[in-house]
Amino acid sequence: MNFRKLKTLEVILKITERCNLDCDYCYFFNAGDDSYKNHAAFISDDTVALLVQRLRQFSEEYELQRIAIHLHGGEPLLMPKARLDGICDEIRSGLAGIVDLSLTIQTNGMLIDLEWIEILNRHGVEVGVSLDGAQVHNDAHRLDHHGRSSYRATVRGLALCQEHLHRPPMVLAVIGENFDPREIYEHFRRDLHVGLIDFLLPDLNHDNFGGDAGAYGDFLIEIFDQMVNDEESVGVRFIDHFLARLYGSGNFLFAAGRGDPDYLLLTVSSDGGVGPDDTLRSTKYWSGYEYRDLKSSSLEEIIQDPLFHEFEYFKKTPASACSDCCWRDVCGSGQPVHRYASSNGFDNPTVYCEGLDRFYTHVLKYLALHGEPLEKIGADLI
Ligand code: SF4
Ligand code: SF4
Repeated sequence: MNFRKLKTLEVILKITERCNLDCDYCYFFNAGDDSYKNHAAFISDDTVALLVQRLRQFSEEYELQRIAIHLHGGEPLLMPKARLDGICDEIRSGLAGIVDLSLTIQTNGMLIDLEWIEILNRHGVEVGVSLDGAQVHNDAHRLDHHGRSSYRATVRGLALCQEHLHRPPMVLAVIGENFDPREIYEHFRRDLHVGLIDFLLPDLNHDNFGGDAGAYGDFLIEIFDQMVNDEESVGVRFIDHFLARLYGSGNFLFAAGRGDPDYLLLTVSSDGGVGPDDTLRSTKYWSGYEYRDLKSSSLEEIIQDPLFHEFEYFKKTPASACSDCCWRDVCGSGQPVHRYASSNGFDNPTVYCEGLDRFYTHVLKYLALHGEPLEKIGADLI
């Protein structure tokens, strides 16, 4: 892989490696990788300053256009407010004028108050709140360390965000195989007045997926039908990204073509270790992975690690079993984390293949039946 064509760098920055919740599906704490136990609970100011310095250097050398930094945890709002304020200052001032910079934060929303909102607004931080649906859906997985519901506190935090943030928050919901999509959509739209939603496929792979893949496709189909029939304009990121790819522009959820990558995702731990997309920690691929350290290496040196090359190669190379599928160049065999099997790595269709095939076909039929000229579709459908 040649990374010289990179235009965008996304950084998952683990500012906190602890959480006030204990969600059973959490890829960070509950998927078998315990490396967080050896990492600092909170990132230090020195590590943030070093990261900013490395990013500056890398942006200049590679003439990057854009850096997106996602403040992640654990739960990032466990950090004292003054410290997070300082971290945002350091990042904004250190990268100002060098690249187009966006800052986001991914939170369970439970600790949000007006002081947090003021800090997030002042630094232009976009907010994603994790909530799986109504209380019955959310309580299925998102409980605290004493088994208590997080629903009310999250909904309270979400309402503060909706009322006071300069930019509306996005709600991120993990799909449950047995969840009723219509009930969840109605709850988000009519009860909580959410206008930006993402639905995530659970971080499962061929070693641990035992469900009904078709059910996930049926869920997405119902959400699509609700969305297109909604009287107001609603953004559902998974669907919007699929449509964007269908019309020819690649993005981080759908394959972006086979050339050298113009986009790279890095994860930075609270100790300043750097690795690839850390959703992979839910697979055996990650086990034993040793982070490269910002202190001893530049980002340019770090991304020459064979693991980055190998991982980007897999992202660009659909599985051999997908060679006859008409969706191959759009779907790219799905997200790498869902393709993995300890027996043969990433050379597999996603575990959600059956459902995604159904969903893709449904959307294409909808477009055709609604008079969309199919020659406008820029994707290569075989
Ligand atoms: S809130 Fe997020 S980080 Fe915390 S346990 Fe749940 S999924 Fe994991
Ligand atoms: S829909 Fe299934 S077979 Fe087709 S490319 Fe995606 S994973 Fe492969």
